Amino acid sequence: MIERIKTFNRPKIAAGNWKMNLDLSGSVELAESLATGFSPETQKPVSMILAVPYPFLSATKSAIQNNPNVHLAAQNLHHEDKGAYTGEVSASMLKSVGCTHVIIGHSERRQYFMESDDLLLKKCQKALEHGLTPIYCIGETLDERESGSTFDVLKTQMMEGPLQLNAQDFSKLILAYEPVWAIGTGRTASPEQAQEVHAFVRKLVFDALGEHVALSCPILYGGSVNAQNAYLLFACPDIDGGLVGGASLKAGEFLEIAGSFWT
Ligand code: PEP
Repeated sequence: MIERIKTFNRPKIAAGNWKMNLDLSGSVELAESLATGFSPETQKPVSMILAVPYPFLSATKSAIQNNPNVHLAAQNLHHEDKGAYTGEVSASMLKSVGCTHVIIGHSERRQYFMESDDLLLKKCQKALEHGLTPIYCIGETLDERESGSTFDVLKTQMMEGPLQLNAQDFSKLILAYEPVWAIGTGRTASPEQAQEVHAFVRKLVFDALGEHVALSCPILYGGSVNAQNAYLLFACPDIDGGLVGGASLKAGEFLEIAGSFWT
């Protein structure tokens, strides 16, 4: 499998997670700069995904509509279709404002909103049912890494989450490995650390769902990616791009990151 990983032509993805930042005009301005500046002139298919706060989704969609390589994501969704869930947003609502993708299981959702693997699987199924592509996040905490349980934690997150799906559904996902200790801390996993985990996750997919699904699945790395480290991370055979927080809020830097696939 290792030899084939190197030659398998998976899509390359630069995804920006704006979290709870910006306002309406700042969102539109950033989206316009990115949509204007992003033109992947390369043989490799590269796409950009912007995960935007709910109130700015529609306006951001309008700002990116002339660039078919830039896609709109939400940062979360509710696992039910509709009903008495004050403050929540459904998959069909996201579809109706132009979302094509949705982040599921970001560590901030797991940590601050107690979202469990079980709930995240339901969200994932709901997204798929409505034709949204989940960007499904997994990752270990610093304590878990230091106590040597990284691979056990990731295996559990995968087995109780996306590996419950059948091969057809799983093949619609994007995975994101985001070590919690690297998110927003400026402390990036080394390319070797990240590659080791990505290869491990791909092997889990291989064992559960077979070679084709494993080799086709895009796995993004997230955790303090910036314009300086993106090139080395993205050069690793199992890393297919990045889920980028802080550095995705600066148009110039995010464009540079998205350009790191072909420099
Ligand atoms: C994230 O929000 O998913 C993230 C990785 O943030 P940062 O790039 O700021 O570490």
